Amino acid sequence: MTKILVFAQLSGGQVQKVALELLTKARTLGEVTAVALGPGASEQAALLGQYGAKRVLVNDDEAYANFLSEPAADTLSAIIETEKPDLLLIGTTYDGRDIAARLNARLDCGVITDGAEISLSGDELKVEVPWYSATTVVTVTLSGATKLVLVRPKAFAAEALTDAPAPQVEQISANISENARRAVVLENVVQQSEGPKLEEAAIVISGGRGLKQPENFSLLQDLAAQVSGAVGATRAVVDAGWVPYSFQVGQTGKTVKPSVYIACGISGAIQHTVGMKGAKYIVAINTDPDAPIFKFADLGIVGDVLKIVPALTEEIKRRKG
Ligand code: FAD
Repeated sequence: MTKILVFAQLSGGQVQKVALELLTKARTLGEVTAVALGPGASEQAALLGQYGAKRVLVNDDEAYANFLSEPAADTLSAIIETEKPDLLLIGTTYDGRDIAARLNARLDCGVITDGAEISLSGDELKVEVPWYSATTVVTVTLSGATKLVLVRPKAFAAEALTDAPAPQVEQISANISENARRAVVLENVVQQSEGPKLEEAAIVISGGRGLKQPENFSLLQDLAAQVSGAVGATRAVVDAGWVPYSFQVGQTGKTVKPSVYIACGISGAIQHTVGMKGAKYIVAINTDPDAPIFKFADLGIVGDVLKIVPALTEEIKRRKG
């Protein structure tokens, strides 16, 4: 049976959602072992079992939280050498990419980045990877003993098993070298925001240059507050300094898959739509009836976003009483 390792990255002691997505997929492909490193790892083991990990290898060392990704790369290298998995899955996050690059160089194992679908045909691994802003999807494979695949967040839905047995939890040694303790994280700045996170919100309201000026983002915030949504943005307005980078949706920003995505004054450049076209229902508001965003929209409104968004907010308030 295919031996699969899933690196379950933690953030603030909690398993990142992408790890649960990877486990959900991995359990359909083979026998799954999760690796959780850092403060809180042991406590998260049961959760990893609920999503399909038969075994969970844990180490709660503070080093994984206080240093950059080298400690995790050291530990994972050692695990790969002893466990000899066929496949190692890591979420495409900043840390995930960093760790994968180090493993790739150290172990000379092949790596596929940005995987969106994974299948096995006999022993042959097949990974679908979107290229050129997802206008083309290529299927790639890897040779070699351990194959390393970085998978996009939200490529798979995370689904807990109803009857998962408790996983076998094993404390492992850290195997962290002195070199790995040289680059230290001095400060973590968490962007304060009200409401749901952009990646997790059921309703996302994003703004582009059509909002004319940064102050008008407050119109989107007002609407988001009424529907418990999150506010996103295009790169154009992020680059202009209107809103922080954490708002950016698209190829070089976040991928969102909400139930409803409302694109306000956004032209619909491919680099933007690649990050939002998976939304279930897309509404676009744009003064230009030929704007490319309308090709993606389930509902298109040709009009001035500065008038339509406040009117929508007022109407929702009125209906809510
Ligand atoms: P514009 O293209 O200028 O569109 C503004 C729209 O607002 C127009 O359609 C206009 O008709 C409409 N409008 C104007 N006034 C009003 C009004 N009053 N009411 C309603 N509508 C109005 N972009 C991203 O978003 N995310 C990415 O991750 C990203 N990555 C990129 C990576 C690379 C390598 C490159 C080259 C580009 C990337 N871009 C990305 C930029 C992308 O190509 C576009 O330039 C950008 O998405 C355009 O942003 P926009 O829609 O806000 O602006």
